[in-house]
Order: sequence, then structure tokens, then C-alpha cells
Amino acid sequence: MKLHFLGASGEVTGSSYLVETAQCRFLVDCGMFQGGREADRKNLAALGFDVRSLDFVLLTHAHLDHSGLLPRLVAFGYRGPIYTTTATATLLPPMLKDSAYIHEKEALWETARRRAKRGRDGVLAREVAPLYTVAQAEASTQQVHGLPYGKRFSPHDGVEVCFRDAGHILGSAIIEVWVKESGAQRKLVFSGDLGQPGRPVVRDPTPIEDADVLLVESTYGNRNHRSLEATIEELVEAIERTFDGRSGGNVIVPAFALGRTQELLIVLASLAESGRLPNLKVFVDSPLATAATQATLQHADLLDEQAQRLFGAALRGELPIQIRFTESVDDSKALNTIRSGAIIIAASGMCEAGRIKHHLQHNLGRSECSVLITGFQAHGTLGRRIVDGARYVRIFQEDVPVRARIYTLGGLSAHADQSALLAWLGHFKRAPEQCFVVHGEEEIAVEFAGVVRERLGWPRVIVPTQGTIAAL
Ligand SMILES: [Zn+2]
Repeated sequence: MKLHFLGASGEVTGSSYLVETAQCRFLVDCGMFQGGREADRKNLAALGFDVRSLDFVLLTHAHLDHSGLLPRLVAFGYRGPIYTTTATATLLPPMLKDSAYIHEKEALWETARRRAKRGRDGVLAREVAPLYTVAQAEASTQQVHGLPYGKRFSPHDGVEVCFRDAGHILGSAIIEVWVKESGAQRKLVFSGDLGQPGRPVVRDPTPIEDADVLLVESTYGNRNHRSLEATIEELVEAIERTFDGRSGGNVIVPAFALGRTQELLIVLASLAESGRLPNLKVFVDSPLATAATQATLQHADLLDEQAQRLFGAALRGELPIQIRFTESVDDSKALNTIRSGAIIIAASGMCEAGRIKHHLQHNLGRSECSVLITGFQAHGTLGRRIVDGARYVRIFQEDVPVRARIYTLGGLSAHADQSALLAWLGHFKRAPEQCFVVHGEEEIAVEFAGVVRERLGWPRVIVPTQGTIAAL
């Protein structure tokens, strides 16, 4: 058996692994690379093998860095099934369509830009093709099959698969795969993205007790998050300070449409319920976040109990908090005229695309406003430059000064921290023959691999690079 590391190896985006057994070939995740030109290049170069030779695809969750190249996979000729959890199957169509829509818009914009430049020389630049189209995204979702957690199924002779709750976002899965080859059975476990235990919204990651081969994520493998309580205190302080006094501003929150937005709504609803932050005006300015929130309500049985109750109460208007979901572009633009008192949650989470860029353009230069960074910011993204303390950032061809206060709230992370990762690994009853540390920036993955060797005494803990082929 062979395992090809196609992405998320020495970095956090582009998750994709190709497994070749004696009888079949399958992919686990088909994620998009994110963050700058290098990512664009990698997305175009990805899937450079005969995708028609794949027998099936398994998907851990709906975030684009795990699912975002599925439309391209199908456009390249893959016609087989894509298996994932039931909730992820609900979330994928809006996620992929939104991604395609952004790619189409960016391609149009890039074509116009090149033509304007070249037009002066009298040469018409060629049209720039999007990474994929809305139609291709829609076609790919036709091949998705949703299955419940805990149900063992066989996607191919000699292979069995089971999804376990990864506690990262709604529908997220750890994938267990049993492969029979020449009479012997071996078990592969793909952690996917693991959630931090005890967070709002989703349940805690399911403990797994055995694997011959394990792939574990390491996004925050080098540090521990602040506690949720401390993070909520910081959030309260940031909001109160921003809205205080006559010169109050707005609070801008870049957030993943799926996961972080729903989590923030629940935290804000609980602060309203307890009276700590009454009468907040919250705008969710992202059609995708709205769709993801609807999907979350549709699968409310997968949420933890407190989340089920608060979510319902807040959306029915039973709590002292106003939550508005903006629909049209005009509604979104109207938010730009609000000078103070608004909490605006918009995608994308790393400020690379979407409506958040407009809100940053209008508020980042105002010292009375705040930006709350609530999730991981990959290298090369606008969000990372803001977190790293840039004094000016470029948004829509304009240099915008960074005068707003920037808060980084680590404790809301959807990823397990070092202690939580070690605790999850601690459930294994014996060391896997091979443990691959993936989905972390290189130095972090290397550091975490060292910690696993030292603390758990596991003999083979490996940090693969993109293109590594491991014999299992
Ligand atoms: Zn994720």
C-alpha cells in the first residue's frame, strides 16, 4: 500500500492524500490551497494524475481547504462517489457554489485588468479562466453521498470506512479506514481537523484507540489556547471598549462562514442572556454564513445541548440581542454607512475574499473601530498581515492604514491545541507503526512531532513534505 501526500504537508491548506492499495485507489480530502500567488499556482497544478483511475473519495469536512478542489476533480473526469457525513453533504453545495462564484468573479476582474493594461498596446489579453465555475461546483455535488457517524460501510471490495465526530465544525469527521491486502487487514486513521474539547456548538472529538497508520493534524501543535473563559472576557472587553463613549466605532469580525460564525453567535447570545452584553446589534454579512447557519439548524441534533437551546432562543428573538442576516449587496453596502455600535461578522475568515474586504476598507483606518481576529491566519493572507502588525494593507488597489485596534482571540479556535492533540493521541492503546504529522506549518509540525516522540514514546513520527510517497 502507498500513501501520497498531495497537500497540507508542511503547511495548513490543500489537504489531500492519495491511497493506493492492491485493489483500489482513493483520495482522502480534495482541498484547496489558500494564501497568495503560491497557492493559486498550486491549485492549478493540483490533481495532476489520472483522476479517472480513482475508485472513490472520502471527505473529512466541508471547509474549502479540505473540499475546495472537488469541482475541479469532477471537471477533470472523476465520476465516482464522494463519501462524507450527512451534515457535510448538506453544507457542501452552498460552500462549493460560493467558492466557484468568487473564482468566477475574480477571473472576470483579472481579465478586465489585463485588458485595460494591454489595451494600451492594442493587444487584447486572453480571457482568464476561473479555477472552476458555479456549474462545475453544482455538478460535483451530485456525486456526494452522506452517511451518519458511526456507520461502517464498504466503498470498495476489501475496504471498510467509518466516520467519527471530529468536533471541529458541524459534520466534521475523523475517518477510520480498514484495508484488506493479501489476507491481512490494516487500519488507517485520518484525524481530519480536530476540535478543541469543551467549545460551544459542536461536541468533543471522538477518542480513537488503534491504528496501524495515523495522520494527525498539527495546526496548533506548538502551543495551548487561552481558556474559553479568558477568551470570552477578552471579547467582552473588546466590544465594550469599542462601543464606549461618544466616539464609539464598529467591531469587525472576519470569520469562516461555516463554524466560527455560528460559534460567535452562540457566544454573543449567551452573553446577552446572562446580561453581560445586552442589546447588541449583530450583522451577519455573508450569504454563505446564512446558508451555513440554516444548515446548522437543520442538523441541530448534532450540536451540544446548550448550543441547541441558545441558537433557537436567539433566532426567535427571545434574547436581548438583534441578529440580522443581510441578503443583498445593497443591504451589505448599507452597513458601510453605520459609524458605530455594530458588530459585523463577514467572510472570508482570512480576509482574502468576500464582503469582509469592504468592511475592512471602511473601518480599518478608523482608530475608534476594532477588528477581532478569531481564527487561524495562513501565511500570505491579508488577515495574517493585519495580525503581524502591518501599518498599511492593500485592499482593492488602495493602501488602507491600520488604525483600528486589532484583537486576536485564540481561545475560539476550531482546532485542538497542543494539550488537546496530545490528549487525543493518548487514547491510542499502542503506538501506530507510522504516525504522520500533517496540516501544520513546517516548523510547528516538526516541533509537535518531537513532542509526540518524547511524551508518548512513539517510534515513528514523520513530517512529510508535499510529494512524499510513503510505503505502508
Ligand atoms: Zn477545517
